[in-house]
Amino acid sequence: MSQPTDSAPSVPSGVRSYQVRTFGCQMNVHDSERLAGLLEDAGYVRAGEGETADIVVFNTCAVRENADNKLYGNLGHLAPTKASRPGMQIAVGGCLAQKDRDLIVRRAPWVDVVFGTHNLGSLPALLDRARHNAEAQVEIVESLQTFPSTLPTRRESPYAAWVSISVGCNNTCTFCIVPSLRGRERDRRPGEILAEVEAMVAEGAIEVTLLGQNVNTYGVEFGDRGAFAKLLRACGEIDHLERVRFTSPHPAAFTDDVIEAMAATSNVMPQLHMPLQSGSDAILRAMRRSYRAERFLGILDRVRGAMPEAAISTDLIVGFPGETEQDFAATLDVVAASRFTQAFTFQYSPRPGTPAAALPDQVPKAVVQERYERLVALQEEISWAENRRQEGRVLEVLVAAGEGRKDEATARLSGRAHDNRLVHFALPADLAEADRPRPGDVATVAVTYGAPHHLVADGALRGEVFTVRRTRAGDAWAERQGRAVAAPRRPRTGRVALPLA
Ligand code: SF4
Repeated sequence: MSQPTDSAPSVPSGVRSYQVRTFGCQMNVHDSERLAGLLEDAGYVRAGEGETADIVVFNTCAVRENADNKLYGNLGHLAPTKASRPGMQIAVGGCLAQKDRDLIVRRAPWVDVVFGTHNLGSLPALLDRARHNAEAQVEIVESLQTFPSTLPTRRESPYAAWVSISVGCNNTCTFCIVPSLRGRERDRRPGEILAEVEAMVAEGAIEVTLLGQNVNTYGVEFGDRGAFAKLLRACGEIDHLERVRFTSPHPAAFTDDVIEAMAATSNVMPQLHMPLQSGSDAILRAMRRSYRAERFLGILDRVRGAMPEAAISTDLIVGFPGETEQDFAATLDVVAASRFTQAFTFQYSPRPGTPAAALPDQVPKAVVQERYERLVALQEEISWAENRRQEGRVLEVLVAAGEGRKDEATARLSGRAHDNRLVHFALPADLAEADRPRPGDVATVAVTYGAPHHLVADGALRGEVFTVRRTRAGDAWAERQGRAVAAPRRPRTGRVALPLA
C-alpha cells in the first residue's frame, strides 16, 4: 500500500478531513491523486499525520493475492473508530469495488460509499448523498464517462508527475483481471496530453511519466499507430522538461519507431520496463500474450543497439498453470540472456474472474516456490553484476523525498539516476545546511558501490565528485513545504470534468 509522501498540517476545526489509502499499481496511485483533488475541490482538507480523518477512502486493487482479505481486514479495523466518531464516512473505490460491488456493503455494512474505476468523479456527490439519505450508496458504471485526467488532481510530488495517456486494455491476458475491470482502451488526444505535461512543467515538475496499460497501442483508437513515438518526440520539445519516462510497454505492440524516438529525444530516459511474464512460448500462448521469446529478445537487442546504457527491467510470473520444468528452464534462459537490471517476480496464484483461474494443471505451491527461489537467485546475481558495472560512473541523480528508508540513519540522500536506478549518496561533511539538495534538485555523484538493488555514492565524504544543481522543481518543493507550514491547503475550484472526446 502506498502512503502519502508529504506531510499535511493539522486540520482547522469545522473543516472535514480526508485520507486516501492506496493499494496496487501506478494507475491506482495516480487515481488517488485525482480522488484527493476531487475531495479538496469539494472543500475537504487532507488529514494531518497521525490524525483520524472524517472521510477515509480505500482505493483498492484486485490484482494482488488476497486483495479482498486485506480490504476487509482494514475495514474491520476501522469499524470501532467509525462507531465512536459520528459523521465519519468510509468509501471504497478502485478495481476490487468494480468487481465486488454491493458485496462490499453486505460484508462491511458500515461502509458508506462504493464507487468503481469508471466513475471516480462521483465520489464527493456520493458522500453527500450517503450523508443526506443516511444509507450506503453503491454506484458502479460499466464504461468510462469522463476521462479521469480531466478531473481535479492533487499531485503527490511537485517534481515528478504522472500523466495518463490511455486507460483500459484491449488485450486478454488470461491471468489478468484488468480488462474486465478497467474496460477497453480509451486514448486521450495528444494535444490534451501535451497541454497537461506543459501545465505540470509550468508548476515545477521536471520529470513526467506517461501512463497507460499498454502505451504501445496508444493512438490505435484514433487511427494513428505512430502516435506514441510522436508523443515522445513532442515531449522532447517542451522546455524545462528534463526527464520523460513511460509505463507499461507491451512486447507484442512495441515497434521500432518508438526505439528511434527514445534514442533521438534527449529527455526520454534510457530506461525500459517491459513485462516478459514467461520465457516459454507455450506458456506465453496459454497466457494469450501474442509475442514469443525471440521477439522479446530482438526488441532488447535493438533498444541496446540504440541506447547502450539503457536499464531494462521486467515482470515475471512463475508457475502459470501447465508450466513444466522445461517451460521454466526457458524462462531462466531468457532471463539470463536479457540481463535485466531488475525483475518483479510473482508466484502465480489464481485470481477469481480470470480465465486462467479455471485452467487445469495448476502447479503445486511447493513447485512454484522452488522455481521462484531459483529465478530470484539468478536475477539477483544478474542485478548485482549489472550494478557493480556502474561503479566509478558519474551520474545525475534527481533527489527524491521518501525513496531512502534508511537515509536518516546513514546520513545519505536518495534519488533516481537517468536510467531509474535508485542511488543513495553521501553529502560532503562540511556542506552548509542552505546548500543541501532539496527533493527536485539534481546532484552529480560518482558511484562507489553497486548493491543488488541500489547504488551507493559516498565519494563526497572523501572530497570526490559532488555538485548540486538547484532546479525549478526543488523551488516548487520548497514552496510547497513553506505553504504546508504556513497554512492548511485551501480547496481549489474551477476545473471542470470534460466528457470524453
Ligand atoms: Fe492485463 Fe495483459 Fe492488458 Fe497488461 S496487457 S493490462 S496484463 S490484459
